[in-house]
Amino acid sequence: MPELMEETPGRALAIYAHPDDPDVGCGGTLAAWSAAGCQVYVLLCTDGDKGSTDPSVEPKELAARRAVEAGEAAALIGLAGQEYLHYPDGELHDDPQLRQTLVSVVRRLRPDVVLCPDPTAVFFGQDYFNHRDHRATGWAVLDAVAPAAALPLYFPDAGPAHQVSTLLLSGTLEPDVWVDISGTVEVKVRAVGCHRSQFPEGAEWASSAVHGAAEDAGRSAGVPYAEGFRRLRLGG
Ligand SMILES: [Zn+2]
Repeated sequence: MPELMEETPGRALAIYAHPDDPDVGCGGTLAAWSAAGCQVYVLLCTDGDKGSTDPSVEPKELAARRAVEAGEAAALIGLAGQEYLHYPDGELHDDPQLRQTLVSVVRRLRPDVVLCPDPTAVFFGQDYFNHRDHRATGWAVLDAVAPAAALPLYFPDAGPAHQVSTLLLSGTLEPDVWVDISGTVEVKVRAVGCHRSQFPEGAEWASSAVHGAAEDAGRSAGVPYAEGFRRLRLGG
C-alpha cells in the first residue's frame, strides 16, 4: 500500500541548490503545509547565476532576475522565510564549510522536517542526469542533519544542537512516501511558472510538465496529484 504522509509539521526547511529547485521538487507540499499553518523556510545555496543558455547574459543580472522570480514564487507558496548562501552556481561541494553553514541554519531555524534533493538519484531515463549542485546539496544536507546538527561537539560555534525528526528527499528514483497535493497543484504550477528565466519554452510547457509529474506520482499514491519522497525518520 502506498503511504500518504497526512501530518503537517510545525516547521519545515527546504534546502536546495538553485532558485527554482524547491518549487519544482516539492512546491505542492510546501504550499499545502503553509496553508495548514506550518512555518515553511527555504534555503537556496546558489543564486543560479549560470542557469542560462544565452552566452550574452550577465551572471549578476541573471542572479538578480532569478531572485525576483523566486521571491514571487515564495509569496505564492506562503513561505515564512527565504534565504540564500550565495555560492557560485556549479561550485557546490559537500565540504566542512558548507556543512557548518547548513548546520548553523538548521540549528537556528530548528525544523521538524528538512527537504532536499536525493543525491543518489543520478540518471533519469535517457534524457536527463542530475545536476552536480543537486547531488552536492543532497549529500551536504544529509551529512549536516545527521549526525552533525544533532550532536553538540560537531561545529560547537554553530548554535545549540537540534535533532531533525524527518528528512524528505525529492527528485528520488525510490519514493516510499507521498504527499497529496491535489489541493495545491495549481499553486505549484504558478510558482514554477514564476521562474521565467528557466523556461524558454514558456509557462505552458512548465504547466504541463508539473501536471504530468504530479499525475504520475498521484497514480502511485492513489490520489489525483502527489509528490513522492524518500523518507528518513531520524527520531527526536
Ligand atoms: Zn537546480
